[in-house]
Amino acid sequence: MRVYHARWVVPVVAPPIEHAAVAVNEAGRIAYVGSAAGAPTGERVDLGDAALLPGLVNAHTHLELTAMRGFLEELDFVTWIRTLTRARGEVLDDARLLDAARLGVAEGLAAGITTFADTSASGTPMRALVEAGARGIVYQEVFGPAPEQREASMAGLREAVARLRALATPLVRVGVSPHAVFTVHEDLLVDACAFAMREGLPVAMHVSESRQETEFLREASGPFADGLRARGIEVVRRAHSPVHLLVELGVAAVARPLLIHGVTFDASDVHFVAEYGCPVAHCPASNAKLGHGAAPLVELLDAGAVVGLGSDSVASNNRMDILDEARQAVLVQRARTGRHDALDATRALELATLGGARALGLADRVGSLAVGKDADLAAFALDEPRGIAAGDVVATLVYSIAGRRATLVTVAGRELVRDGRVLDADPELPGRVAATTDALRTWAAAQR
Ligand SMILES: [Zn+2]
Repeated sequence: MRVYHARWVVPVVAPPIEHAAVAVNEAGRIAYVGSAAGAPTGERVDLGDAALLPGLVNAHTHLELTAMRGFLEELDFVTWIRTLTRARGEVLDDARLLDAARLGVAEGLAAGITTFADTSASGTPMRALVEAGARGIVYQEVFGPAPEQREASMAGLREAVARLRALATPLVRVGVSPHAVFTVHEDLLVDACAFAMREGLPVAMHVSESRQETEFLREASGPFADGLRARGIEVVRRAHSPVHLLVELGVAAVARPLLIHGVTFDASDVHFVAEYGCPVAHCPASNAKLGHGAAPLVELLDAGAVVGLGSDSVASNNRMDILDEARQAVLVQRARTGRHDALDATRALELATLGGARALGLADRVGSLAVGKDADLAAFALDEPRGIAAGDVVATLVYSIAGRRATLVTVAGRELVRDGRVLDADPELPGRVAATTDALRTWAAAQR
């Protein structure tokens, strides 16, 4: 038995406990959460003036794009996504994607993230997560906007999923992600979801991220429609919104996909999301940076939707820090609604932990500190200038500690970060990813 003592323990499902401890048994499960005085004896680890909380859950990322940090600045969304797709195809081979994913996992761990919900075209994040000992779901992406791509895309998906399944562990599982309504024909969308259901795999999809996406579906116009027509692909007016389409196709009811973004949800979308129990990955920083806007998070929560927080890729966010996404979520919702009580720090921290775990179907194992759950833990030091605060510890974590490195991280009881250092880090890795960023810069210069 290992017993972590800290000034504060934040169970999330109960108020913070001062001078407290969390005990972890040999099976990597939580055996005790409570006062230091009542803690069991065992190997004592004193974290000192720190807050110990459940490991943070990143409900949406693209680990394989970690080398694209800073590569696509100040672009409109359509140019952003087209440049990303071309550069990925021309510059990033599997070895580079894998290294990028490894660096992304290390960055996330250093920020206290223990669970990563990754959507990936290459599948390389699966290996990166397994190697690191982190927890996650790797949703294999599938693309194919033309009807005649249906069979080839499905064959590719089945093959990729089989490859990833061979790597799966009790901590890292496989999912399926039809990318988005403007990159996946609706017949392929239905096939991919039916396949996922047959195989017992979770589904995630980018939904209602941009105005252009709504325009594509509702009016059959705009840059995504123009782009497909230029490739000889027919585009017809199809539905009021991506959520309405998922409802019409039966996908919302059966596959209950994780809906990534939801920036342009209207009241009817929010109603359907809650009605069908589709979880949402809310990505406030990415949505703001790309100029998409702010998702109606308050309305989703009021309707009873399950919501987790995602960073999205560092190509649109530049950092992977879920405590900081919690901070952004509060700031953006208060700015959007003009209400100081739109969202508070306690609720935001819950979204960053238990909300994400629920969104990914992992809440029976992680997301809060409770006896019997897996010991996915993150600790943040409070004995630094930003930690000296007169308010409660949750407000301190969300409003001021956000952005700092975790001092301790465990996944299923195994220490992956200790004393602020990612253990077993490959010292050559940052240099290799930096070489990839150089290659991207060279590629971009050649496009001019
Ligand atoms: Zn994304």
